[in-house]
Amino acid sequence: SYRSRSAFKLLELDKGQKHFLSNSDVRAVVDLGAAPGGWSQVVAEKLGWVTPCTPENSYADLMPDFGLSDLARIEKFGSWSSNVGRGVIVAVDLLPIAPIPGVHTLQMDFLSPRAADAIKAALTTPENPSGMADVILSDMAANFTGNKAHDVEMSLDICHSVFEFAINNLNVREVHEGVLTKRGGTLLLKHFDHPLSQEFRVKYLKPNFLSVNYIKPSASRAESAEGYWLCRGWKGVESSPPL
Ligand code: SAM
Repeated sequence: SYRSRSAFKLLELDKGQKHFLSNSDVRAVVDLGAAPGGWSQVVAEKLGWVTPCTPENSYADLMPDFGLSDLARIEKFGSWSSNVGRGVIVAVDLLPIAPIPGVHTLQMDFLSPRAADAIKAALTTPENPSGMADVILSDMAANFTGNKAHDVEMSLDICHSVFEFAINNLNVREVHEGVLTKRGGTLLLKHFDHPLSQEFRVKYLKPNFLSVNYIKPSASRAESAEGYWLCRGWKGVESSPPL
């Protein structure tokens, strides 16, 4: 079964947004803020590393004690059959992530200076020699303090760091003589709704992706201030102001 309610958000987003994750040319995915591993499970499923969850053994098992920290419980419900999939998946979190077939896990602070190099190293495999990613997912959220200004600032720090990571690690769209030769990468970025977040979107995301859509999955709690930007067709940063 899936380890988190968030897994359903990602499934819903993929389905509603032209299968940005299921597309067969997606071969390198980074999942930031991945614990306990629901999104990584979905990615592993889409890239063929595990057999998809069936409705019978799905989230309902986990519902009664939705606490998500008990690795033993995760092991109990998380047993899937594994296959040989395609590509590379790197999952990063401050917290431990119980193993998932096809997923390389890193327990570290994404905001630490050594994180980018460690992720790059994990992304670089014989199958993905460039070490570049097709999809970067960020569900990272700092612990809420209740102080709105502080919470927004933390969320923006995360957004800026993820954007900087994308600059160096997301596959850039390539067009030769009018023909698309490489699809630009996709970024799915969680943020907190706030005017400053809108500024970030306008300044950094809009100029550098073909499309940026605001998404509030119905699986996310209605009252929460969280939303996602689904940014597709990474063009690189030539047109953007410096960070
Ligand atoms: N997408 C996950 C899933 O489906 O299981 C749930 C992610 S949860 C909403 C947010 C995660 O972000 C937490 O596990 C938290 O530890 C992580 N996080 C927050 N700040 C982080 C940071 N600076 N570095 C790494 N992980 C971070």
